Amino acid sequence: MKYAIGIDIGGTKISVTLGASNGKILVRKRVVTRIGSQSKACIQEIIANIHEIFREFKISSKDILGIGIGAPGAVHSKKGVLPRSPNLAGWAGIPIVHIFRNKFKVPVYLANDANAAALGELVFGAGKKVKNLIYITVSTGIGGGLIIDRELYEGAGSVAGEIGHMSIVPEGRKCKCGRRGCLEAYASGTAIAHWYSEAKKCKVKGAKEVGFAADSGDKTAVQSYRKGAYYLGIGLANLMNVLNPEAIIIGGGVLKSSPPVYWKEVLKSAKDHAWPEAFRTTGILQSPLLGHSGDLGALALVFKNAPSRI
Ligand SMILES: [Zn+2]
Repeated sequence: MKYAIGIDIGGTKISVTLGASNGKILVRKRVVTRIGSQSKACIQEIIANIHEIFREFKISSKDILGIGIGAPGAVHSKKGVLPRSPNLAGWAGIPIVHIFRNKFKVPVYLANDANAAALGELVFGAGKKVKNLIYITVSTGIGGGLIIDRELYEGAGSVAGEIGHMSIVPEGRKCKCGRRGCLEAYASGTAIAHWYSEAKKCKVKGAKEVGFAADSGDKTAVQSYRKGAYYLGIGLANLMNVLNPEAIIIGGGVLKSSPPVYWKEVLKSAKDHAWPEAFRTTGILQSPLLGHSGDLGALALVFKNAPSRI
C-alpha cells in the first residue's frame, strides 16, 4: 500500500488527511480557514497538522508519495500558486506548492477543488474504468471538472469545467459571478432554496432545509427540487451533446438532501434536451464518493501523478 497527504482548502475549513492508494482515509484533521493577514499563520497550522499525523502514525516524509492540494478558484496546476478567489482573500499569489515542497521534500500537486474531485472519481470512484468523464458538484454553487483521455483538462485559462456558469437562460436570473442566466442561478442548492422561498413567500437558508420540508410531504419543496433538476438536466444535455463522455458523475450536497423524484427528473430533463445518441451513450451516475470527494480529490492528485517512490 502507498500513502499520501491530502489538503482540501475550503472557504470555511481546511481538511488535512492521510490516505492510502486504495482510497481509505486513515486520519482527518480540521483547520479553520483564516483569511487576510492570517493566511500565512493558517498555512503554518496545516504544516503542524501534517507533522502531528506523522508523529501519530510513526512515519515521515519518506513514507508518503507526495502531497495533493485542492483549492477554490482558477488554479493553474503547473504554476503552483494560488489564484484570486472570493472565498480566500489574502491567499492569492501564495506559492503554496513551493512552500510544502521545501518543507517536506516530496512532490506536491495543486489543482482546483472540483478538478481534483474529478480526478478523485477517476482514481477511486465511478470513473475507474472510463477514459472520459465530467464531474459535477451541485451544492451551494455548481462546479465541475473534465477528464479527457484519463487526464485533467484545465483549458487555456485554467477555467475549463466551470459548468456552473454556462448560460442556460439568456438575460435570466442574476448569478453571483455577476452575469445572468447561469446554470448555478437555476440549479444549485441556493437556487432550489430560492424557488422554495419565492413560492412560499418565506426565507429558507439552503436546499437542506427544503429537503427536510420535502421529506415531510411539502409539495412546494418537492416542486422546488424538480425545478432545480429540470435546469440541471438542460446543463447535462448541453455537456453530453458537446463532449459525449462515457460518464457524467454528479456529487455535492443537493443530491444528499433531495427527495427521490429529483434524480428521476434530472434524467428525464437530460433525455428531453439531449441528442438521443448522446444520451444513450453517456452514463449519468451518482458519485459513490459523496461527502469525501474533496479529501479523495486531493489524494488522487498524488496517486495519479506521483512517480512511485515506495
Ligand atoms: Zn455565473
